[in-house]
Amino acid sequence: MGYSIRFRKRFMPRSFADLSAMVFMLLAIPSVYWFEVYVVGPTIYNRTLNILHVIVGTYMVINIIGNFMAVIAVDTSTQGLVLPSQVPPGWHVCANCESTAPPRSRHCITCNACVMKKEHHCIFTGCCVGLGNHRYFYIFLFLMWGSTLYCSFLNSFFIWPYVGGFNMWAFVRLVLPGVWLLLEPSLDTLYAFLFSINVIGFLFMSVLMYYYTGLLIMNMTTHENNHRKGQKYDHGREHNIKVTLGERWYWTWVFPTLSSPLPYDGLDWSLQSGEKSVRPKTK
Ligand SMILES: [Zn+2]
Ligand SMILES: [Zn+2]
Repeated sequence: MGYSIRFRKRFMPRSFADLSAMVFMLLAIPSVYWFEVYVVGPTIYNRTLNILHVIVGTYMVINIIGNFMAVIAVDTSTQGLVLPSQVPPGWHVCANCESTAPPRSRHCITCNACVMKKEHHCIFTGCCVGLGNHRYFYIFLFLMWGSTLYCSFLNSFFIWPYVGGFNMWAFVRLVLPGVWLLLEPSLDTLYAFLFSINVIGFLFMSVLMYYYTGLLIMNMTTHENNHRKGQKYDHGREHNIKVTLGERWYWTWVFPTLSSPLPYDGLDWSLQSGEKSVRPKTK
């Protein structure tokens, strides 16, 4: 049984921390885009290269925000699915939902639902990453990693005149960008702030990419990894990648709307070759 997509009915974050993180993201991404396209690009590049820079940059920012929105839009919960009344092998009973829950699912207190193949609750999107939106989450990380790497490199040519050359004071200003921006609000400090946001973003994304790529190629969630329960879902690298990114995983970075069907429906986690199906009977 393949997966069929379902959309969430409620998009707003349910906690203040989640809302703050989401607002930060939705302010930071367009601010960095503005900085790269209107400030850095025209200073660094000639006219032709700058046009290319703007086209690629616009595509990247639309792609990034598209994946971000797709994480929010896709319903990863078991709500609305027909679940068995008896507990099939590998399933458990969720006391919060007062229903059976499939293998690899876990309850999220914030979302107040059981989430299929739960990865984690993401504060930036205010929802859980699990089966169905894991692809968008991973591609979002990948695109953010590539973009912040490129921008950090480009900005390093641009920024030095604004921080007064490389010295200890400039270093402190760039390491504590928010403080400097608050003490001396000006265009120069804003540029330095956006420069630092990019570098910090790149370092943060590098760590996340390293960690989540490792889990993705092992077909493991964070919880399974922490509790060493994931090995039974590891059926080779290509299979594992398809579990998260879908059959056409190699296209998923191009745009979030490109179809890449997921091989598992979130209820039955036996091998799809069908030799040992443990699909539960529904009531
Ligand atoms: Zn639950
Ligand atoms: Zn959640």
